[in-house]
Amino acid sequence: MKYRSSRGGVSGLGFRDAVMMGLATDGGLLIPHDIPDVTDKLASWSSLTFQELAINIMAEFIDDIPFEDLTLLVNRSYARFNHEKVTPVVQVGDFHLLELYHGPTLAFKDIALQFLGNVFEYILDDQQSCLNILGATSGDTGSAAIEGVRGKSNINIFILFPEGRTSPVQEAQMTTVPDANVFNIAVDGSFDDCQSLIKAIFSDMPFKQEYQLGAVNSVNWARVLAQIVYYFFAWYELDKPKTFDVSVPTGNFGDIFAGYLAKRMGLPIRKLILATNQNDILARFFQTGVYKRGDVHFSESPAMDIQVSSNFERYLYYALDGSCEEVSEFMADFLGEGVARLDFNTSEFDDSFLAGSVDDTETLKTIRSLYEQHNYLVDPHTAVGISVGNRLRTPDVPLLSLSTAHPAKFEGAISKAIPGHITSHESLEALEGLPKRKKRMGAEVGQIQAFIRQHGLR
Ligand SMILES: *Cc1c(COP(=O)(O)O)cnc(C)c1O
Repeated sequence: MKYRSSRGGVSGLGFRDAVMMGLATDGGLLIPHDIPDVTDKLASWSSLTFQELAINIMAEFIDDIPFEDLTLLVNRSYARFNHEKVTPVVQVGDFHLLELYHGPTLAFKDIALQFLGNVFEYILDDQQSCLNILGATSGDTGSAAIEGVRGKSNINIFILFPEGRTSPVQEAQMTTVPDANVFNIAVDGSFDDCQSLIKAIFSDMPFKQEYQLGAVNSVNWARVLAQIVYYFFAWYELDKPKTFDVSVPTGNFGDIFAGYLAKRMGLPIRKLILATNQNDILARFFQTGVYKRGDVHFSESPAMDIQVSSNFERYLYYALDGSCEEVSEFMADFLGEGVARLDFNTSEFDDSFLAGSVDDTETLKTIRSLYEQHNYLVDPHTAVGISVGNRLRTPDVPLLSLSTAHPAKFEGAISKAIPGHITSHESLEALEGLPKRKKRMGAEVGQIQAFIRQHGLR
C-alpha cells in the first residue's frame, strides 16, 4: 500500500515513510492510495484473537514490514493490556459498550500509541537513527505517548503541559514514570501557550533537523490504522450482526474516522454516530454542511474540548471524491475565514454519519442513570457517546457505543454525577507517593530549546 497527501503534494510513500512523516510535507494528511475491500476475508477471520485480527488488518495497509516482524510489533503493543481480549465488549441494558481503556494509561489512546511507539522503535533501529519526540498535552495524550515510548533506547520524549492545569491523576501518570528517556516540562502558562511553544520549535527548521524532532499527534497514520482493528473485533464479539450502529465520542475525529474506514473496507456498519460535547463543530457540520470554528468551551469531557479537528481533513478527501484541489480550497477557506461549506446536495455525499451533541448536565445525568439502572459506571466521554447514540440509533439495529476511558480517570465528574461515590483503579492508586519528575519552565522557546539541546538524543 502506498500513501498520498489529501492536498496532492505527496504520493507514492510506503508505510514506513508515512509514519515517519506524520503530517504531510504539503500541510495535508496522509491517506492510503486505496481502501482495501476485505469483505471476502471476513468469514475466515472469525475466530482470531484481537492480536491476530490486528496483524491481518494491518497487513492490508503495510507492505514494507515483513509479516513476522509485524506480528512481533503487534504482540508487544498489546502485551501491556490488562484484559485478555484487549478490547472486550459488554452488554449494558439494550446496547453494548466496547471497552477501549484496558491499556497502561486507562484510555483508548493507548491502543494506537503503544503500537506507534513500537513502530517508531523498529524503523529507527533499522535506519540506525534516533528521534526526539516533542508534544504538548492538556492531559490524556501526554501519558499515553510517554507509556508508548518509555525505556526505548533510540527515542527521547519531551512533553509540555500547563503547570497546575492538568488533573492530579493525569500529572501523576506522566511524572512518576522513572525511565531516563522521559522528560516532563511543566510550563508556567496555559495549554495554548504549550501548543504555541511546540509550533515555534517545530518551525525552527535547523533545530528540528539537528535534533530529529518528531511528533506523536493524532494525525499520524499509524494511529488511525491501529484504531480500525477494534471496530472489526467488536463485530465478531457481537456475533457478526447483519448490520449495527456505532456511537463514537469525538474530538479530533481520529477514532470515528477509523470506523469510517472499517465501514468502507466492508464491515457492515449501518450508521456512524458522531457524538460531541458542547464543542460541537463536527456535529454542526454533519447536520448542515457548514464547518465553522467557535470558541472552545471547557466541559466535563475535556479530551473532546476541541474546535479544530485534526483528522477531519482525511474525511473531507473522501467526501470531495478525492479532489485534492477542493480539499485545499476548503481548508484554505476554513483557516482563513474560520468557515467553509460542503454542499451535501450536489456532491455524491454518503450518508454514513449521524451527529449530535450533549451538554454537561445531560452527560452527568447519563452517568447517574446508567449507574442507578445497571450498576455500571462510565466516564464522561463515554457518557457523551451513549447519550447521543441512544438518541440517534436505528430501531431494532444493535448499538455499539465506544467506551474511551476508565471512570477513575475522571473522578471529579463522577462525584458530581453520583454524589458520595468514590471511584478508583489499582493502577492509579499505585502511583500515590511515587517520586515525581518534572522540570518547571517559563513559556519561552529559548529555555525549552536549551533543555532539549542538553537532553536530546543526537
Ligand atoms: C482523545 C479522546 C477522545 C476523542 O477521540 P478523537 O479521536 O480525538 O475523536 C474521546 N475520549 C477520550 C477519553 C479521549 O482521550
